[in-house]
Amino acid sequence: MTRLLVAGKLHPAGEAMIDSLREAGHHVDYVPDQDERAFVPYLPEADALAIRTQPLDAGMIASAGRLRVVSRHGVGYDAVNVEALNERHIALTVVGDVNSVSVAEHAMMQLLAGAKRAVAADHAVRESGHWGWRNALEARELWGKTLLIIGFGRIGQRLARMAGAFDMRVIGYDPYLPVGRWPEDLATPVDSLRQALGAADFISVHMPPAPSPLLGPEEIAAMKPGVVLSNTARGGVIDEAALAGALSRGDVAFAGIDVFGTEPPGDGHPLVGSDNTLLSPHIGGLTDEAAERMAIACLRNAIDYLDGSINPDLIVNREAIHA
Ligand code: NAD
Repeated sequence: MTRLLVAGKLHPAGEAMIDSLREAGHHVDYVPDQDERAFVPYLPEADALAIRTQPLDAGMIASAGRLRVVSRHGVGYDAVNVEALNERHIALTVVGDVNSVSVAEHAMMQLLAGAKRAVAADHAVRESGHWGWRNALEARELWGKTLLIIGFGRIGQRLARMAGAFDMRVIGYDPYLPVGRWPEDLATPVDSLRQALGAADFISVHMPPAPSPLLGPEEIAAMKPGVVLSNTARGGVIDEAALAGALSRGDVAFAGIDVFGTEPPGDGHPLVGSDNTLLSPHIGGLTDEAAERMAIACLRNAIDYLDGSINPDLIVNREAIHA
């Protein structure tokens, strides 16, 4: 009989799936203990390992003599020693797209908060003497405005669909998206980032981290005055000090920021001290629904790999295991 080891606490939907797997005759060792090494004693018997964020090093892999697949509860695998898996032809799987809806909704929330000046409006009610702020007419509409989406992958395209429902004009910058795969019904592709920055009323960033910020001081200076900016991608994509400066001058009217160069950013961080921001602790992808999908996909991948029905696109090291 094959044995599945589940390391780390799962969403209740995942725990219910473990019950169903056991009822169907699978042997499942479930170790919800958050201690990073609590699952290690079970490794020698495991055929499949479903793992959350705990490190999986070469020594642990060596102790797992029967192991055929490691199924990550997520899409990253920095804590897993992939080389040690490759040497033994052990597959490493990831969950694929489980949270792009969550992140796109978070970005849409930030853009709306910026347009409607949600933070200032909240203060106007809570702080005595500020009710008159309403007469400044700072709130704006999304309708008919231009949204620039930088990085037109899974999340960027979902956001484009949402913005379309608000009757925004959506333009997209993604030099790595092959021409034939560009869904032009969702957005008009642009070649020049500089021109697009000057044309957009709203900007949302959805590209992977780069060695240096794509939006540095010069790019921020090229943005249309009064622009609303959203970053749910990675902190390093925007020069944070330059953005804080642009916010303090009012060149950028509002920024919704979910991700920071250093997390948590700490009290001295330039954006923590900035007005006209809505900050969140890297929660774009952390919804209850995404956690449920992640737990189920992680267990499913382990089982599907063992019975040979896995989607090969979910196997990170498929070349190494077939070598
Ligand atoms: P994806 O791979 O589907 O899409 C990324 C797109 O960015 C690709 O189409 C790629 O061609 C494009 N790109 C790469 N370099 C670029 C550049 N220099 N300029 C413009 N476009 C460029 O990724 P995704 O799933 O849509 O994720 C997008 C971002 O969201 C990533 O940075 C990811 O880390 C982040 N993310 C954040 C959270 C959160 O909780 N806030 C959760 C999930 C993902």
